Amino acid sequence: MNEKFTGIVLFIRPYREKDSLVKIFTREFGTKMFFVRGLQSLNHPLKKHLIPLTEHQYWGTINQQGLSFLKEGQTLNLFRSIQSDPFKQAHAAYISQLVDASVNDNSKDQQLFDFFQATLSSLNEREDARPIQLLLQLKLLQRFGLQLNMKNCVVCGSSQRIEDFSMVHLGVLCHNHLDKDPNRMHLSSKQVKILQLFNEIKLNQLGQVSISDLSYKKIDELIFTIYHEQVGIKLKGESYLNQLYKVADQLKISKNQGR
Ligand SMILES: [Zn+2]
Repeated sequence: MNEKFTGIVLFIRPYREKDSLVKIFTREFGTKMFFVRGLQSLNHPLKKHLIPLTEHQYWGTINQQGLSFLKEGQTLNLFRSIQSDPFKQAHAAYISQLVDASVNDNSKDQQLFDFFQATLSSLNEREDARPIQLLLQLKLLQRFGLQLNMKNCVVCGSSQRIEDFSMVHLGVLCHNHLDKDPNRMHLSSKQVKILQLFNEIKLNQLGQVSISDLSYKKIDELIFTIYHEQVGIKLKGESYLNQLYKVADQLKISKNQGR
């Protein structure tokens, strides 16, 4: 049946000699794989509607199982700043992989689609991608069945003098119970506050934030460890992000040495 739907392109994979498989997160039908004949040829009419991390209106045939098909597209949002900024693009790619991993294919999830759409819009508009990614990573944990206890000490329930995070208990520790986890994260009080805040707020409540590179490093280490060890996923986009930041750091160092 011919359907009209909205979708964000997740990725494209070459298939056979000239064809492609395109995964699209559709608002109406969830994440679906589309077969597009001849997409690898230069002047394919759907090419401009099948750029990863852009949003379009589509017309096509939706199949509940197996591959679906596209007939036409109309551009809704190209997220130009994401397309042109390698850092934003790398964050957006990681985010899209994480979103994709958090849903079952072919099952409608408008709430997640809208959140993903809002996340890309926000990435497109804001200077720094890191706070947006952190917020999304924390929010998506629930979808993998994990609930972090950020408000009250996991041992005594107190909300006073919260001083660290415990990976074993997946929650915070108060001053009196730091000894309950010998491998606690040793976060600074500012880092604890950042985690508590980001775990609480919604995307549209995210204002200007000033977080040091060091704090981002520490918090990233914590969040990615949870995803590796508790959720059990390590995404390609993560290694790419790491490489990108490593190169940027090296450039900074060599620039400073040149002065
Ligand atoms: Zn306690």
